This record gives sequence, C-alpha cells and structure tokens, in this order.
Amino acid sequence: MELVIVYDERHRLHRDLGGKHPEGVWRVEESMTELHRSRAWDYVRVVRALDPDYSAVLLAHDADYVEWIRRECSKGFHYIDADTYVTEHTCDVAASFAASTREAAIKSAETGSPWLIMARPGGHHAGRRGPAMGAPTLGFCVFDYTAIAAITLADVGRRVLVLDFDAHHGNGTQEILWSDPRVLHIDIHQRWIYPGTGYIEDIGGRGAEGTKVNVPLYPDSGDENYSWVLVNVVEKAREIFKPDVAVVFAGFDAHREDRLTQLQVTEAVYSLIGHYLRKLLETGEISGLVSILGGGYGRGMVRSFRSYVEGLLNIASEPEIHQVSPGRDIEYGMSRVLDILSRTTRSLRKLD
Ligand SMILES: [Zn+2]
Repeated sequence: MELVIVYDERHRLHRDLGGKHPEGVWRVEESMTELHRSRAWDYVRVVRALDPDYSAVLLAHDADYVEWIRRECSKGFHYIDADTYVTEHTCDVAASFAASTREAAIKSAETGSPWLIMARPGGHHAGRRGPAMGAPTLGFCVFDYTAIAAITLADVGRRVLVLDFDAHHGNGTQEILWSDPRVLHIDIHQRWIYPGTGYIEDIGGRGAEGTKVNVPLYPDSGDENYSWVLVNVVEKAREIFKPDVAVVFAGFDAHREDRLTQLQVTEAVYSLIGHYLRKLLETGEISGLVSILGGGYGRGMVRSFRSYVEGLLNIASEPEIHQVSPGRDIEYGMSRVLDILSRTTRSLRKLD
C-alpha cells in the first residue's frame, strides 16, 4: 500500500512571529523528519499542496466568514482572538490545504490509497461562520478541512465516517455536519477542556440523530480506555452505519507529554488506530481514507505521528492493549446513542 502525503513548505508562512504559540512550524517539520527515519518512508509518496481554492472552503463555510477572515489576513500578523493568530499568508495557506483535502478525498475514494494532509493551521474548531457551538475563539483554526472532505464525499454519494481523535472536541466539524445524516461523526476527546462542548447527549440534529457520537473521556484515561472505545464505540458504530470511506482528524495531543491535555496515552494508541484503519481498507470495509493532521503540542506528537503512519502501513506490529471501560456513564451513553444510530440508519436505508 502507498500513502500519499500532502506536504508543502508554504505552511511555514503561517507562523507566530513571537515564537511562543504552541501550534508551531516545528510540528509538521519534525513529524516529517521522524517519518523519514522509518521504514514507512519507502511506502510514502509526497506531493505539494494545490494552489489556494476558495471554492473548496465554501463547501463548509459561509461567504461572509470567508470574506471576514481574508480581510483579517490582509492586515498581516496579529491575533484575531485570544488563541488564534493569522499572517498575511494564513488564508491562502489554509485554502491550499482545503483544496488539497478535497482532491485527496476524491482520489482516495477512487483509488483506495490512503492520503494524509500535513495541514497547518488547524481545522476542526472552525465552524460555518467562525467560532462554533458557543466557543469563545477559533482555537488555532481557520478552515475546517475535515468537514470539507466529508461534504465532498457525501456529495458524490459516499457514506462517510469522520473519526476525530484529537484530544479536543471538534466543535466546528460537529456544527457544520450536525444535521447531515450522510456523515457518521465520532469524536473522542477530553471533557471539561477547550472548547467545552461534545457531550454524550449531543447526538445530531433532526433526521441525523445518532450520527454524531461524542465520547468525552476523563483525564488520565490512558491507553486501556482508548482501546475499549475503539472496539466498543468506533467499530460498533461503523458496523451499524457501514460507511464507504473514512475521514480522520488525526490529532496527537492526547499523548502524555502534551502541554495542553491530561489524557495520558502513549504512542501505542496511535499505532492501534493506524492498524485498525489499515485493516478496514484491506478488507474492503472502506474504500478510501483521508487523514488530516490535527493537534499535538508536546514532543510526544512526533513519535505518535510516526506510530500512526507505521500502523497504517503495517510497518510495526500491532500493539496488544488491554481494554478497560472508561466508566459506567460513558458505557450507558454509548449504548443509547448506538441504538438511536441503528434506528436512524434503518429509516435512511428505507428512503434509499
Ligand atoms: Zn486538539
């Protein structure tokens, strides 16, 4: 299997001139350097990003928001809210990755080869019109690549799984896809941290009930809880919904060395998820896979990224991780949302 990686050095044009922001240029650069040291590199093909294309951005965002953020970018480097900065190049850089994400979605679904977008700035906190679901800020994000990929695929008739394992809730992605029954969005995140959304009870808008699955884990969850969630939530929901393709927001900020979170997982979890997705591709359960780089703000992200790709390409052996329930409340909530997903999926099938 070949992995196509969209890497473009123009991501460096989005940088904090003060050098203090946790979402730094180093994250992409060091992740690529680390991957170069792996045998996985033999199976990687690197391509540049496409030129900026705002028609891809408009799949997920309102024109008013896009115009506003472009005006902000034209003013040069400054903070547009307490968390998020832009430079004069940020909008075009993000619109390049948006265009490439749309291309990756189509090509991956056509060929079955997985694609990975080394996107900066981030994406999953950007809602349709800016900060999403009542969040105070854009959370380092400008355009929501995950939603763009999901909508692209749904619009050509594919059933889409979005798996967001970034440690923060993907409130932008969820807001944009809230009432879209064509997309199963599973979001595993740490509760009580930014952006403060992603409750178990949030299961999607009318007609899409159960297609939004939020798994808000407690601090100190660790590898065993993630292993449980993968088998008992992600795989069970997938079996019910039967997606054709998967879009993954691959954030590595649940790692125990992360500066912003307390989920305490190790690289093994990312290897496990990589292996899981690879097997779905190999067995034909899904026929396309687009991963988009998410968060990761400590040194652990670089090794986690490598582990994920090595799992995806079957370079390293699959880790065996004992499964431990993350709590009765989460178990109960998940069985309820999976029941609702079953009902919604059955009624959608009748309409087909
Ligand atoms: Zn995050």
